[in-house]
Amino acid sequence: MIIVMKDKADESAVKKIVSQIEKNGLKTHLSQGEEVFIIGVVGDKSKLDANAISNHPMVEKIVPITESYKLSNRKFHPEPMSFSVSNTEIGPKNMTIISGPCAVETEEQLLTIARSVKKSGATILRGGAYKPRTSPYSFQGLEVEGLKYMQTAAKETGLATICEVTSAHAVESAEHYVSMLQIGARNMQNFELLKEAGRTGMPVLLKRGLAATIDEWLNAAEYIMAAGNPNVALCERGIRTFETTTRNTLDLSAVCVLKEKTHLPVIVDPSHATGVRKYVEPLAKAAIACGADGLMIEVHNDPEHALSDGPQSLGFEQFDSVMKRLLPYIKLSGRSI
Ligand code: PEP
Ligand code: MN
Repeated sequence: MIIVMKDKADESAVKKIVSQIEKNGLKTHLSQGEEVFIIGVVGDKSKLDANAISNHPMVEKIVPITESYKLSNRKFHPEPMSFSVSNTEIGPKNMTIISGPCAVETEEQLLTIARSVKKSGATILRGGAYKPRTSPYSFQGLEVEGLKYMQTAAKETGLATICEVTSAHAVESAEHYVSMLQIGARNMQNFELLKEAGRTGMPVLLKRGLAATIDEWLNAAEYIMAAGNPNVALCERGIRTFETTTRNTLDLSAVCVLKEKTHLPVIVDPSHATGVRKYVEPLAKAAIACGADGLMIEVHNDPEHALSDGPQSLGFEQFDSVMKRLLPYIKLSGRSI
């Protein structure tokens, strides 16, 4: 449930109620809206005297939250959220551009790509070191060696970095080398992995599962947040449908639904959604129009010979010109890169 305080309630009144609730073993999450304080309450409500709280002179009302996700629920936190990733910020003022190769292949390849995407306007460098490939015979990633290259690229370019983690072991390694963790579509409901990512307190990009509903996705985010980590962004990357002309079907309506249901930032990944290079630009524009807080776009120095996801990867020139054409859309959305 949430407790909405009266607009004249000051911090000391809020503190008193918070300590009363916490004495009963429940957890509280405070958020200050434009006009009033809101206290989110998680735990066994039967331990609370709800009447005493609702009769408190500084309490406006108590609103029950029927959804099973609480911390990721916008009712808990009415203002859209922003958080830092190294030297950049994901949130309502910015259009975060996450770009780079699907997989880190060599140090030279990654550095070349990092320099180029930075010049074109990317703010976070992506690069997979643990690749969840459909076939066990496909390139699986360089693991710690790849993470080290990501760190080198970050040092040289100043870019923040993100890397997918596929196991608790990968989390333990990645937290020393990159600024943000990515949990991929195939692991969206790997609950032990979600808890482990929560433990780190690092910013986490949680991709939507291949066939996950929005409610399942928000509950997955709840796992990370319940482990004590509020810094979660969601990434719509297309879902499985009957359509086969594109790799997945980009569910742009999810962006609008999420904006209503959660305060967490939403990133759209038109590369994995379509699997087709030429569709990346139009869907990136559409994502901006729907209110996305950022884009994930795969870029490779030599897409024809990429070790993974070449057909959807943009070359340097194409990425640069796509970015130039996205700029007016970004401006129109009231954001800046
Ligand atoms: C990726 O980002 O390279 C990736 C594997 O994405 P997804 O989990 O969305 O398939
Ligand atoms: Mn990929």
